[in-house]
Amino acid sequence: MHWESEPKRKACAVNTQSFSDIREGVRRLCAQFPGEYWQKCDRTRSYPAEFVQRLTDEGWLSILIPERYGGYGLGIGAACAVMEEIHRSGCNGGAAHAQMYVMGTLLKHGSEEQKEKYLPGIARGALRLQAFGVTEPGSGTDTTRIKTFAKRDGDVYRVSGQKIWISRAEHSDLMILLVRTTAREEVSKPSDGMSVLLVDMRQAVGNGLTIRPIRTMLNHATTELFFDDLEVPVENRLGEEGKGFRYILSGMNAERILIASECIGDARFFIDKAVAYANEREVFGRTIATNQGVQFPIARAQVQTHAAALAVNDAAELYDADEPCGSEANMAKLLASEASWAAADTCVQTHGGFGFAEEFDVERKFRETRLYQVAPISTNLILSHVGTHVLGMPKSF
Ligand SMILES: Cc1cc2nc3c(=O)[nH]c(=O)nc-3n(C[C@H](O)[C@H](O)[C@H](O)COP(=O)(O)OP(=O)(O)OC[C@H]3O[C@@H](n4cnc5c(N)ncnc54)[C@H](O)[C@@H]3O)c2cc1C
Repeated sequence: MHWESEPKRKACAVNTQSFSDIREGVRRLCAQFPGEYWQKCDRTRSYPAEFVQRLTDEGWLSILIPERYGGYGLGIGAACAVMEEIHRSGCNGGAAHAQMYVMGTLLKHGSEEQKEKYLPGIARGALRLQAFGVTEPGSGTDTTRIKTFAKRDGDVYRVSGQKIWISRAEHSDLMILLVRTTAREEVSKPSDGMSVLLVDMRQAVGNGLTIRPIRTMLNHATTELFFDDLEVPVENRLGEEGKGFRYILSGMNAERILIASECIGDARFFIDKAVAYANEREVFGRTIATNQGVQFPIARAQVQTHAAALAVNDAAELYDADEPCGSEANMAKLLASEASWAAADTCVQTHGGFGFAEEFDVERKFRETRLYQVAPISTNLILSHVGTHVLGMPKSF
């Protein structure tokens, strides 16, 4: 890493001026992974292992891990700067982002023994914590209806069930897994009775866990998981039995803020590309940027991105100050994912036919950034949260 001059503090601001050393270091790394690298991974649907390894080796993924466990102990604002620069450079942080926010569940809710056991290895790059198993085919966004069940049997839980869309499961040594330990019908509140287990994938695969990759419109290494009587030691449970939903929710704020900063990076990538192409491409004897019909949509994308970046900044500041930030994290993610999508659409339009050509990277990023209006939480669910929790209107489900 090359940002020693930055004071080691819980810094907050996420605008483009802040964390300049971090941004410069990440940009330098990303420059070694140009479009051709990502095009090849995309074409062959292969995991960008070399890129993730470099991020790990240079310490960027352990930025949030406290210094006493070998990390850098910085705040989420610094982590946002890393993710934004990765995306602005045309790379894809989706291959590695989970390590940042998943680690928070272990850090906040794990025992001291568990933290000592895992965090130094994660900070060193000896252990990969990249998988986060929540979504199930039968429950969708309604997480309280998950069915994957962990039945206590002495010192172990026996896990059976199924998960879907679990990304990076084949490229992770550990997975944070949400399970039911008491059936929904037997608890007073639907969000009770769920627990979080830390699954060692190296032991689990072939011994009760089967992973099946899902091919999608973007290269995201996502999978389906099948649990058939998988043994997980009770000592691998994070926090109290039955309280897992709360633990997962606190990690989700970090996830939303970090993914929002990826969207800001994507939006800036598209705007940079659109401006450069519009200034260079000549049609009817003048550059296309001269036409307001071309220039204004790009300018609008810039305005949208600026506003969304301020919202991300606000959420990150609250998160780093340990203030409640659920609504702000959700709103930032909604604004940022819409800004990146508007910028993506404008960028394709500006490029005309070349917007569809693989070698321009625009079509790849277009597919990649579309994800963020659906995952990790879809736009409607954010609007529902704002309608009920911020504005006090009736719950719609
Ligand atoms: C590439 C990819 C990677 C992913 N990675 C992970 C991962 O690593 N770990 C993990 O746990 N999950 C992961 N997910 C899952 C992701 O979080 C979910 O797809 C997302 O939360 C939406 O859930 P769903 O697909 O079940 O949609 P559903 O819940 O079935 O919803 C479908 C649509 O209906 C809308 N809808 C549903 N209910 C309402 C309502 N009451 N009012 C209005 N609209 C409603 C939703 O907004 C959505 O647009 C991933 C998904 C994808 C596609």
